[in-house]
Amino acid sequence: MRVLVALGGNAMTAADGSVGPDDQIAAAQTAMSAVAGLVAEGVDVVITHGNGPQVGNLLVKNELSAAVVPPVPLDWCGAQTQGTLGFVLMNALEAALAQRGVRRPTAAVVTRTRVDSGDPGFSKPTKPIGRFLPKDEAQVLIEHGQHFQDRGDRGWRRVVASPEPREILDAGVVMTLADAGYLVVANGGGGIPVVRGDNGVLHGVEAVIDKDLGAALLARSVAADRLVIATDVDNAIIGYGTDAAQPIGRVGVEQLRSYAVEGHFASGSMGPKVDAICRYVEQTGNTGVITSLDNIVAGIRGESGTVVVAG
Ligand code: ADP
Ligand code: MG
Repeated sequence: MRVLVALGGNAMTAADGSVGPDDQIAAAQTAMSAVAGLVAEGVDVVITHGNGPQVGNLLVKNELSAAVVPPVPLDWCGAQTQGTLGFVLMNALEAALAQRGVRRPTAAVVTRTRVDSGDPGFSKPTKPIGRFLPKDEAQVLIEHGQHFQDRGDRGWRRVVASPEPREILDAGVVMTLADAGYLVVANGGGGIPVVRGDNGVLHGVEAVIDKDLGAALLARSVAADRLVIATDVDNAIIGYGTDAAQPIGRVGVEQLRSYAVEGHFASGSMGPKVDAICRYVEQTGNTGVITSLDNIVAGIRGESGTVVVAG
C-alpha cells in the first residue's frame, strides 16, 4: 500500500510556533517518528509538507537585507524551503527508522506545480504572506506592483495569488523513486508554482499553492492508495468551537461536502483540508483521512480520525 502523508505547520515548528533550526529539527523528529510507525507496518510513504512559517522568515530576510543582497522571488523561496525541509525530514525519517531497525532509502524532490497564468487568483490575490507593514512601507512595494490589504490596527499585509494546482510536473520522478523503494519527500508548500509560457518554457510565478490541494493532486498523480492529512486535531469537527461541537468519524464524501457547504470548516485552515480530501476521494474512489500525527497508523486502518469514503 502507498500512502501520501501531508504534514501541516505543526509538524515543522514548535507547539508555540517557534521556528529556530532546533525547533524545526525537533518537530520533524516527532513527525517522522509517527511516519516511521506507518513504514514499519509495511506501508510505502510519500511525504509532503507545508512551508508557511519558513517562507515567511525568508521574506523578512529579503526585506531587511534588500539594500545589500538582491531579494529573491517567491518561487525561489518555495524552492529553498523544499530543499531545507526535505533535508531535515530525510535525516529525521532515517533516524526514526533506524530506531525501529528498519532501513529504507529516502529522497527529497524539488517539485514544480503548474498553474494557469489566467487563474483568477492573479487578478484578485487573496493569500496573506509576510509580516504586517506600516502604510508608508507598504506603499513603496505597491508601487513595485505588489498587492496589499489594509488590516487596520495591525498594519498592511501583502496578498498573493493562491492558484489552482493543475499538474505536478515532477510527479513522474516521485513515482519512479517510490516504485524503486525510496521514501520520498515531495511537493513541499504545494509545489513551486510555475506557468508554461507561449514558447513552452516554464517560469516561476509570485504565488502560493495551497499545500493540501497540492497534496490531493500529488496523491492522485503517484497512484497513492490513501491520502492522510496530518494536522493538530484528531478530527474535522462540525459546530467547531460551539457547545454542539461533534467530531466527524467515518463519513461519506457527499455528506462531508454538505457539511462544508453549511460552513463548518474555516477557510484558512480546515476548509482546504476538507476540500482536498473530498477531491481525492471523488476522483479516485479511495479513502482519505484527516487526523492528528499521533493517529496516522490508526487512521489508515480506519479506526481513528475523520475517515472519508466514496459515496
Ligand atoms: P496545518 O498547519 O496542519 O495545515 P491548520 O492550522 O491550517 O493546520 O488547520 C488546522 C486547524 O483548523 C485546527 O487546529 C483548528 O484550529 C482549525 N479548525 C477550523 N475549523 C475546524 C473544524 N471545523 N474542525 C476542526 N478544526 C478546525
Ligand atoms: Mg496550523
